[in-house]
Amino acid sequence: MNSTSTTSSVTWYRRPRPNRAPDGFAARLEDAIDLLKLAASYTPCAFAQSLSAEDMVIFHLIAEHNLPIQAIALDTGRLPEATLELWNRVEAMYSRRIERIEPTAAHIEELVDMRADSGLYESKTVRAYCCELRKTAPLRAALSGKQAWVTGLRRAQSTGRANVGTQEFDTSFQLLKFNPLINWADEDVWFYIDKRHIPHNSLYEIGYASIGCDPCTRPIRENEHPRAGRWWWEQSASDSIHSECGIHVATFANSTIKDVP
Ligand code: SF4
Repeated sequence: MNSTSTTSSVTWYRRPRPNRAPDGFAARLEDAIDLLKLAASYTPCAFAQSLSAEDMVIFHLIAEHNLPIQAIALDTGRLPEATLELWNRVEAMYSRRIERIEPTAAHIEELVDMRADSGLYESKTVRAYCCELRKTAPLRAALSGKQAWVTGLRRAQSTGRANVGTQEFDTSFQLLKFNPLINWADEDVWFYIDKRHIPHNSLYEIGYASIGCDPCTRPIRENEHPRAGRWWWEQSASDSIHSECGIHVATFANSTIKDVP
């Protein structure tokens, strides 16, 4: 698909290509590095990523500063080919592993038996159960025993993320959670990716603004909400809250975390 279709006159999303640093970018970058250093002081700490654009920025910063944070990613069994290709490319380029987290064979069998692949479009319950077994349950197991985890959450991604803090206690997974890019705008992410030649998913170049599993991700039109291409069949035209997979729904302000240096 081309980013602009001549047959249907649809204009697809084009990622930002800022040619200079957005206002305040240097301070946001410094804050992100400081927060990653703080996260790394909680041992063991994991960086759970989906190889999104913001995750690639964080992965780059962890590598550049040689921080003792273990990179992990969910291989749900339904990732787009482009994401799997990026996974290999990033590991080779940085000479750092991204540990593969997968659903159990028993859970996959359960989903196959209930025909979840087709049912997820017909039932939000089936879709949520698929996310639980392919994503949340394996992540919960992977985070067990960790003191802290790092994510690429940004407030600008959705209304549901508007009040997320830079550091929180994750009540769902029962550990500290650090969100170093929480205040970054799209322009910040793409400015830094282009400036530092950071590898990124090729789907961003053909209309995708947010990328998850293949059956649940589509490109978006210009002016659509950035997460409109995720679980789009569950959104109504007036719905301003976009669906989540369940991984980031229960995190909250802390009073026990050390101050950011
Ligand atoms: S995003 Fe879609 S395919 Fe992936 S785990 Fe959730 S429902 Fe299943």
